[in-house]
Amino acid sequence: MSLDISCPNCETDEHLFGARNDAVITITCSGCSLSWDRPAAPHCERCGSTDVVAHPVPLIERSRGTQMSITAMHVETRCRICDADELRERGTGHLPPSLQ
Ligand SMILES: [Zn+2]
Ligand SMILES: [Zn+2]
Repeated sequence: MSLDISCPNCETDEHLFGARNDAVITITCSGCSLSWDRPAAPHCERCGSTDVVAHPVPLIERSRGTQMSITAMHVETRCRICDADELRERGTGHLPPSLQ
């Protein structure tokens, strides 16, 4: 299974398992046990386009001391039409060469 995503915590993309569950796919990293949900059929809420990019946002909790740990993941959806400017600034590399 190709998920086209890597673990935001340990950065592996080889030990991820996805379990589809209606509208979301729950992805679990066996390397560090982090799991998060990803929309199974992501689309733009503004224009309805399905030409979108999954943008994982780690929810980081500052635990006691200075150590930071990722406790959960939230996946935002970026539309290639509505969020074109932002995607270009971030340089995600997802745009086809003709648009770069
Ligand atoms: Zn991991
Ligand atoms: Zn849109």
